[in-house]
Amino acid sequence: MIIAIDGPAGAGKSSAAKKLSKKLEIEYIDTGAMYRAFAYKVLKSKCDYNNISEIKKLLSTTKINFNNGHIFLDGEKIDLQIRTNEVSKLSSQIATIKEVRKNLVDIQRNIANSKDAILDGRDIGTHVFPDASFKFFLTASPEARGKRRHLELKSKGVNEKLENVINDIKKRDFNDSTRDVSPLKPAENAIIIDTTNINLNEVVKLMTEIILEGK
Ligand code: C5P
Repeated sequence: MIIAIDGPAGAGKSSAAKKLSKKLEIEYIDTGAMYRAFAYKVLKSKCDYNNISEIKKLLSTTKINFNNGHIFLDGEKIDLQIRTNEVSKLSSQIATIKEVRKNLVDIQRNIANSKDAILDGRDIGTHVFPDASFKFFLTASPEARGKRRHLELKSKGVNEKLENVINDIKKRDFNDSTRDVSPLKPAENAIIIDTTNINLNEVVKLMTEIILEGK
């Protein structure tokens, strides 16, 4: 069983996916974390991401994997390092490069081909697993998503103006939905859930009911 959860930044995908994976006892694959991990490597190695041969070379020496819910880049655990603003912005830029997408999609398919899994991202239902058993598209207004991100950042001690957080989210929405390769959009038969006015527990309850009914 593959469950695809797509949607824009801050819609609650990863929180819902984590809870669902615990409830259903199946693996959770945070595909956004993989784009972030590669963006982090690009930053660290000072690679010019506009130069495709440099990107290809970097991809060929990069190993991204998950272990026990943690993400590893070339053997180093990088859960916290990939959550900075700088990495967020760069991840949506490097995610427009088709060679990067192909490389990361191959890894996603390899992990999920051998087991039941929940994957969250932007293109899971449209491209990575178009035949997924369940396809959800979570969305919410940019203001609601910005407020959630703002609170999350605050809890980590990061003080950023709400207005800036909302603007960054809108920029990422624009990048993600207008790129040529696998743009962000709901899959044709996706179940769309607007989380603007419902909380995480209600979202998970709704998704669980749909999954158990359809199984
Ligand atoms: O989900 P998250 O905000 O962590 O994703 C970071 C960035 O990675 C997104 O802004 C998007 O550009 C990219 N991404 C993607 N396809 C996915 C998952 C994430 O393009 N399946």
